[in-house]
Amino acid sequence: MENFVFGRKEKPEEEFGVYKRALVARSTDEEILRKSQDGGVVTTLLSSALESGLVDGAITSGTDPANPWLPSPSVVTTRSEVVANAGTRYSLSPGLLALKDCMKLGLGKIAFVGTPCQVQAVRRIQKFLPKYANMLTLTIGLFCMENYSYDGLMIEKIQNELGLNLDDIEKINIKDKFLIRTKTGEIKEIPLEEAKKFVRPSCKNCSDFSAELADISCGGVGLKNWTYTVNRTDIGVDAFDNAVEEGLLEVEPTENFQASWIICILVGFSWG
Ligand SMILES: Cc1cc2nc3c(=O)[nH]c(=O)nc-3n(C[C@H](O)[C@H](O)[C@H](O)COP(=O)(O)OP(=O)(O)OC[C@H]3O[C@@H](n4cnc5c(N)ncnc54)[C@H](O)[C@@H]3O)c2cc1C
Ligand code: SF4
Repeated sequence: MENFVFGRKEKPEEEFGVYKRALVARSTDEEILRKSQDGGVVTTLLSSALESGLVDGAITSGTDPANPWLPSPSVVTTRSEVVANAGTRYSLSPGLLALKDCMKLGLGKIAFVGTPCQVQAVRRIQKFLPKYANMLTLTIGLFCMENYSYDGLMIEKIQNELGLNLDDIEKINIKDKFLIRTKTGEIKEIPLEEAKKFVRPSCKNCSDFSAELADISCGGVGLKNWTYTVNRTDIGVDAFDNAVEEGLLEVEPTENFQASWIICILVGFSWG
């Protein structure tokens, strides 16, 4: 599949798949930074791609209003819709099911955001189902070590055991452990070992941490309010550069964030 996407295989010195450059970036927009999981790069890239006409819509993940924190595929066509879906939900969001909705809406060019396994599926669709190939214009992969069952993590552990009302939770992030911040600013923690039993079985055999087939891959890797960003293809570089030229992203070299680079190498290696 690497040959299909990049026209070549990974070189020995490429630590986490084929790529053109790696950077650390964050949004310059306060609202995006507040709502996003890390540095808001994914939300910024999608907004910029929509506003420049690079894409007509994007498949992201929203939540089901009746079941707070239950991810649900969500097709967005405006900046405000993209921003509303910012942040991470750590359960499966079957985004590819929304391809049909994109077709019904007549969207000619779309961006797709998803986990590395979903990006692999996107590439297989592009290779084997030409009907969708031209439509899937920009693929943004999220670094991913594990995905958790909603009933286990959110209902059994967080709602029933920790006693939190899911509607009261503002943000859930993983930085060595689960950090759950409520709307009143209280922080609850769950050690990763306690959540292990809720990991989806397919994740135990997964070998792609950094979405190695995406146009752009993004992860938090221990960073606070910054996104580790890997530009892998020409379209990925263009989408990123457009956002920088528009003043939407602030960029730092990865050398200033050595610990995250080491995490990428070690996790990518142990996963791969
Ligand atoms: C299941 C999962 C596990 C992850 N594990 C890791 C990890 O181990 N290490 C790491 O460094 N990073 C991990 N990430 C990525 C990280 O949480 C951030 O998404 C990433 O750093 C980008 O941050 P951002 O602020 O730029 O994204 P934002 O600007 O906040 O945008 C995030 C985008 O992701 C979409 N999204 C949210 N939840 C899902 C979902 N369940 N499925 C598909 N799309 C979704 C949103 O709709 C939004 O478009 C994981 C993400 C997911 C979904
Ligand atoms: S760990 Fe692998 S299989 Fe599990 S959701 Fe992430 S990319 Fe998919």
